[in-house]
Amino acid sequence: MPLSVLSLPAIGFGSLIIIIGLVLFAIMKLSKIRRLQSEIFKLRKSLDEMDEQAKLIVRTDIELNKTQEELDKKVDGLYALQKISRDIGTTLQEDLIFKLITNEHLEELGFEKACAFLWREHAFVPVLSVGYEHSEMEAIIAHLGTHRQYFSETIESGATISSNALRQDHELLKNITKVFCAKLFVMAPLRPKEGNRGFFFIGTERTDTLITEGDEEIITVLANQLAQALDNARLFEKTWRAQQSLERKVEERTRELSAALKEVQAISRRKTEFISAVSHELRTPLTSIKGYASILLAGKLGEIPESVKERLEKINRHSDELVNFINDLLDIARIESGRMLMKQEPHALREIVAKVVDMLDVQLKDRQLSVPVAIDDNANQVFVDALQIERVFINLIGNAARFTPVQGTISVSAKRHEGSVLVEVCDTGCGIPERDLENIFEEFYRVDNTINQETKGTGLGLSLVKHIIEAHRGKIWATSALRQGSTFSFTLPLQGV
Ligand code: ADP
Repeated sequence: MPLSVLSLPAIGFGSLIIIIGLVLFAIMKLSKIRRLQSEIFKLRKSLDEMDEQAKLIVRTDIELNKTQEELDKKVDGLYALQKISRDIGTTLQEDLIFKLITNEHLEELGFEKACAFLWREHAFVPVLSVGYEHSEMEAIIAHLGTHRQYFSETIESGATISSNALRQDHELLKNITKVFCAKLFVMAPLRPKEGNRGFFFIGTERTDTLITEGDEEIITVLANQLAQALDNARLFEKTWRAQQSLERKVEERTRELSAALKEVQAISRRKTEFISAVSHELRTPLTSIKGYASILLAGKLGEIPESVKERLEKINRHSDELVNFINDLLDIARIESGRMLMKQEPHALREIVAKVVDMLDVQLKDRQLSVPVAIDDNANQVFVDALQIERVFINLIGNAARFTPVQGTISVSAKRHEGSVLVEVCDTGCGIPERDLENIFEEFYRVDNTINQETKGTGLGLSLVKHIIEAHRGKIWATSALRQGSTFSFTLPLQGV
């Protein structure tokens, strides 16, 4: 058998196997290519996504930077605002408030020019000008004159206006940028609670910046603080003026009062001098009248009939009363003028009271009046002019005896009280009406009652008593209940205090 016949099927089979092998190989390659293609597609997709994300990151970064810039600007603005507020918050003079806004403040706020106007007597008057030439200010004033209605209405509306509103294509706003020489600006009303209103204008010629809402807010706050400062200054001015006028009135009144006091003192001095002079003049003839009456009564000029004797005794008694009266008057005048000094020495109060009770013994026994004396041991030693304090007790116990019904009681007590001795002379007499209590220590004052109508008196006793107690730096007062009795209380200095 030829080899070719034998080998053909063998070659065909081998090729088939190779072909099959190649086909299988091709199939495997194809599927690998497909897998790779799908991998490439996926990779491309993720690359696209990454690209998008990168773009987003860049965009966010730009935004963040912008926000950071705005924030920095706002912080600077707030810092400047805080500085201005601190200064204007402590200013109480209206004309100084606006002088506190300086170039530096404006720069910190991101602007370079500012002005402010207040409405005064039919025109807008400038109160602030920073960054403006004189001629520019004049042009602004002229503009305000012709457009006063627009500015007044803006102030009244309370709205803050900025160059951002220029988008509204408002002709007047466009004029503002021209007249106020500022491409970007914020204008806020000044609305104090009382008094003249106005507006605050701040601007810049730069265009590399923007007016943000933050800027508008900060300038509005600044304008409100300026208005508040105006209110404070005006209130202070008002209060200060009121205080000045009050002080002037007080000074005037004080001058009037001290003039009146001087006059009263002069009158009182003249009265005292007059009383002294008259009393002295009266005392001399009285002494001789009394002397002659005594000589006649003693029979030194011969026997006198009984009827004449009686009259002479009357003259004698009345002369004594008059002498006592004049002596009391003279003593009051002397104490008032400071000519009579109290000879203060240590004395036992019990002895003074006992002496006086003894002196008035006849009168007291006559009316069957008991006089219990209760002086605390620690209140006995007093530092007084004994003779003068005797006169005090003579007057007080004597009065009590006159105004207390038969068999009544006049008690005298003394105790320590707040560093001095408190003495009380208390009776069970007719009492003193409330309305008379505050007058009984005045000279010549007598209560209008039947006892007084029947008995003699001068109305000088209690006045003298008050003068003596006050000359001892003490106080005297009276309390009373009608038909139950009266209590006269006074203080005396303790020995060694
Ligand atoms: P006089 O006794 O001379 O009237 P005084 O100055 O001593 O003057 O007293 C003034 C008045 O005070 C008396 O007139 C009397 O009405 C009233 N008075 C003083 N002491 C008493 C008393 N113990 N009880 C009631 N009234 C009194």
